[in-house]
Amino acid sequence: MAEIRRVIAINLAFAALLASAAAGQTSSPSPTGLSRFEFAQAHMGTQFRIVLYARDAEIAAKASTAAFERIARLDATMSDYRETSELMMACKQATRRWVRLSPDLFRILARSQQMARRSGGAFDVTVGPVVRLWRRARRMNALPDAEKLAVARQQVGYRWLRLDARRQAMRLERSGMRIDLGGIAKGYAADAALAVLKAHGVSIALIAAGGDIVAGQPPPGSNGWTVAVRGLSSTDEATMIHLRLANAAVSTSGDAEQFVEIDGARYSHIIDPRTGQALTIRRSVTVVALNGTASDALATAASVLGAARGRRLIDHTPGAAAHIEQMRGDRLLVSESKHWREIPQTPAR
Ligand code: AMP
Ligand code: MG
Repeated sequence: MAEIRRVIAINLAFAALLASAAAGQTSSPSPTGLSRFEFAQAHMGTQFRIVLYARDAEIAAKASTAAFERIARLDATMSDYRETSELMMACKQATRRWVRLSPDLFRILARSQQMARRSGGAFDVTVGPVVRLWRRARRMNALPDAEKLAVARQQVGYRWLRLDARRQAMRLERSGMRIDLGGIAKGYAADAALAVLKAHGVSIALIAAGGDIVAGQPPPGSNGWTVAVRGLSSTDEATMIHLRLANAAVSTSGDAEQFVEIDGARYSHIIDPRTGQALTIRRSVTVVALNGTASDALATAASVLGAARGRRLIDHTPGAAAHIEQMRGDRLLVSESKHWREIPQTPAR
């Protein structure tokens, strides 16, 4: 009997914040007259948390409600779980035909294609048909059928997805193509949520969506939000990496988040689009970048590329840094990009 183990864990956690999960005010006003508020809602198959500082509960509630509404609309636009999402409808209609897209959908696809080109196709949102087979494999505890996988692979390739900026439209050059924004949408949604909070006058805020965290201005009297990142060897709070973040984002990708074990091999939810295979290497990639869209896509890309090529991609991205952990046998290999040490950490490492 094949052994199956399904683990879905939050890979990134707030250091001090998780302790108080209840919504609403979590502190009395600081000397600046600002109080801390925390809210949580489920979207995109994960829990979105918003922590913010505001003058009063009314401002906090109004801003966070608007931010969650924005996230919900993005979910309805971009979901590949809902056959009626704008993305899924567009995929059905765009085979060898131009289909006009909403500004958000066009923008995230443009960012995705940029990352696909930069990563040599390691990040590829057209991986949908293959992801679907591996999702089923996770549910059924059996590897995907080889023939079906071969057919699905024919439907994958970022070069078959074309975008026209002038028309704000997309076109798919092969039938059966299916786009999956799972590697970038949470970061994009967290960025969008921060923009909504700012439009409500709330710029001291942090948004966390599972493994993707976007930070705005730092809390009063501090130089950043403390964010704890779990690596492969982290067993508890003390062995996590503690970063201090402001006006930046951090994402973690890897098999610690979602995987299935079949016959002793561990299959990640991240696919190498060039082979159609789920990653089996134990690797955890944490990327800090200027925004959540970038950190989310970079972390997924570097998971596929591996330490050396992933580092190179990140070193060539302004404002980005990465910490990559990988198991070789039972040895833990850690590698850091050029600028990783410049990210403030507590305690200093
Ligand atoms: P993340 O947790 O951000 O690394 O994203 C993983 C999710 O992105 C998966 O669950 C798939 O939905 C999707 N995905 C898997 N492999 C890739 C890939 N190579 N490029 C882009 N998206 C991917
Ligand atoms: Mg990602």
